[in-house]
Amino acid sequence: MKLIPTIGIEVHVQLNTMSKMFCSCRLSGQDDSKPNQYICPICIGLPGTLPTLNQKAVELALQIGHFLDAEIQEQSSFDRKNYFYPDLPKGYQITQFYQPIIRNGRLTIWLDDDNSSSIKITEAHLEEDAAKAIHPEGQPYSQIDFNRAGAPLLEIVSAPDMATPEEAKRYLTELYLLVTSIGACQGDMQKGHFKFDLNISVAEEGSTTLGTRTELKNLNSFRFAKKALEYEIDRQIYLLSSGKIVIQETRGYNEAEGKTFSQRNKEDSDGYRYFPEPDIPPLDLKTSLIDATRPDTTSSIQLRGLLQSAGLSLRVQDTILLDPKSRLLFMQTLAIFDNDPAKIKPISNWLIGEYQTIESPNLSASHLRQLIELIEASVISNNLAKEIFPDICQGRSPQDIIKERGLTQINDQSIIDSILRQVIGNNPEAVTQYQSGEQKILGFLIGQAMKETKGQANPQLIRKTLVDLLDNMLQ
Ligand code: ZN
Ligand code: MN
Repeated sequence: MKLIPTIGIEVHVQLNTMSKMFCSCRLSGQDDSKPNQYICPICIGLPGTLPTLNQKAVELALQIGHFLDAEIQEQSSFDRKNYFYPDLPKGYQITQFYQPIIRNGRLTIWLDDDNSSSIKITEAHLEEDAAKAIHPEGQPYSQIDFNRAGAPLLEIVSAPDMATPEEAKRYLTELYLLVTSIGACQGDMQKGHFKFDLNISVAEEGSTTLGTRTELKNLNSFRFAKKALEYEIDRQIYLLSSGKIVIQETRGYNEAEGKTFSQRNKEDSDGYRYFPEPDIPPLDLKTSLIDATRPDTTSSIQLRGLLQSAGLSLRVQDTILLDPKSRLLFMQTLAIFDNDPAKIKPISNWLIGEYQTIESPNLSASHLRQLIELIEASVISNNLAKEIFPDICQGRSPQDIIKERGLTQINDQSIIDSILRQVIGNNPEAVTQYQSGEQKILGFLIGQAMKETKGQANPQLIRKTLVDLLDNMLQ
């Protein structure tokens, strides 16, 4: 029998709001904060306090929902998920269990240049984050930092729609790109802005029921997600094919060992005693608010479409899209070219090569446009442009560099003629070889002419003129 894996993913996206989900404590810009600097009676869960819903969090959730082609729910509501843990001292998390704000979306992912698949998103619900537990090494105590307690999260739940670890990785990458490209999430993975749980089971090929699943919890690296899944699939296949069973449980991933390990048996939803949150009224969204959050920002989905339409490979698309700086520069440059589709390729070409290796590039959209225009107008050759590109990436204007170094491309026919006559005169053997039919020697002669002009001659013009001259000598 052949065992086939099935993967479903839950992603917790921290929404990019100024304040927390249910109180006015500051959330963004906590960078140099001390532990427990941004807390109040509400987010540390003191009895008798009342939560107030953050409207911005709702708007960002709706925006994401639109981009996922999802059904935005006019009616949704909040529930208490009851459990005790030191990072959740009030004993429950406010979430949306019975009526989530978003249902039935989908996200298209590309597996390679030709193959895509559409991953179904069952639902997405709003909830609050817990505090952060810190366990100092060798100490008999733990510490709790409440700065992120009550941060607004959108939990996006996919259907068990993925069949390979690579597919799961692509889904995570694409979703991350989407929420960060529209500014709905700051995307700092180290700070837990985008963390995920992976549900994985294996079953006989063709089976209509899924196998028993395990859940890999709280990962925040795409690469490790893929590795953890690969390990877990092998483990489950090994168990089943040697007559053992898979236990439904939560497992962690040990990055150093490259192995998953059992953490706890998974409670089912009954264990949480969900009930409606009495302190927050149901959310009754006006159609006007839903419409107002319809996207007017350019998302990674549209950008990928543009790059695809220009025939660029998935690898090139990823290079530009996954690096926020390149992505922004691409968008800005295309915009000042009035979104001319013919410019997608030249802009991209400059962003994928050397640009990616420069430490902190200072390349502006207007300088990149200037560079592309100078090449297109044959003022400088592509080779010259490559030569001065590192300087342009230091913030200098292409025109200034060209002026300063006297680098303009030589297009003057009379100058080209005289240079080539000189080259021909200096290389009689090469000329004889060409005349006896050795075409390859042309390259050598062109090289000599380019050397003579320090690379500034127009190479097309050099080639054409050289051939004309040599052919004329034959007659
Ligand atoms: Zn607070
Ligand atoms: Mn959750």
